[in-house]
Amino acid sequence: MRVIMFGPPGAGKGTIAGALNERWHVPHIATGDMLREHVRQGTDLGLRAQAYMEAGELVPDELILEMVRARLAEPDAQHGFLLDGFPRTVAQAEALERMPAGGADVVIDLRVPESELLRRLSGRRVCPECGAIYQADTMPPRRPGVCDRCGGKLVQRSDDAPQAVRNRLEVYRAQTAPVLAYYGERGLLYSVDGTRGAVAVIAEVGAALTARGRA
Ligand code: ADP
Ligand code: ZN
Repeated sequence: MRVIMFGPPGAGKGTIAGALNERWHVPHIATGDMLREHVRQGTDLGLRAQAYMEAGELVPDELILEMVRARLAEPDAQHGFLLDGFPRTVAQAEALERMPAGGADVVIDLRVPESELLRRLSGRRVCPECGAIYQADTMPPRRPGVCDRCGGKLVQRSDDAPQAVRNRLEVYRAQTAPVLAYYGERGLLYSVDGTRGAVAVIAEVGAALTARGRA
């Protein structure tokens, strides 16, 4: 099954996709994580993407599309995937349709109001070692500042700083929200109330995917 996890920054795409991919045996492909890895390793793509990411701007389509096209050509993506953070523009959605393993079977739209997004993004801490995500108030690690899973030291993403957060929400409204209409017209949208706890959201999305998989 080809699944797109959609929603504004802070809606929980990474948390939900990360919990679902094991059960569905499809790779979790998160373009933001891939880009951060390029930045960390200092690749050519990382050097070109870094300034956009830190400002909360979108990385130009041609760079993203080259990266996603290569990833979807790998063997593990031939029978489906969970895309997280892609597509983020209508041009990216159109390009996905044209990729050999591309297209989508269902688009999960995680709905969360802006006040809640601001709260979540400012309280978010991540593990740079294993990618685990924590929330200061609702999903804290067992030991403050330390990853439960691998013991890594938790950090705040540079684009979770207040000015970058405001910019990411603005970019979402202007450039990414139109992708919803694109998939709505194709009958692929499934909207989920993303304000509930992660366990409830994961259960609902899991049930929706099971129903689609049988259909
Ligand atoms: P979030 O969804 O919380 O904003 P991501 O980790 O998905 O964070 O993305 C972080 C940053 O990486 C984005 O703000 C953007 O600069 C860049 N990025 C990720 N995916 C894309 C994409 N599909 N198109 C353009 N830029 C992207
Ligand atoms: Zn970790």
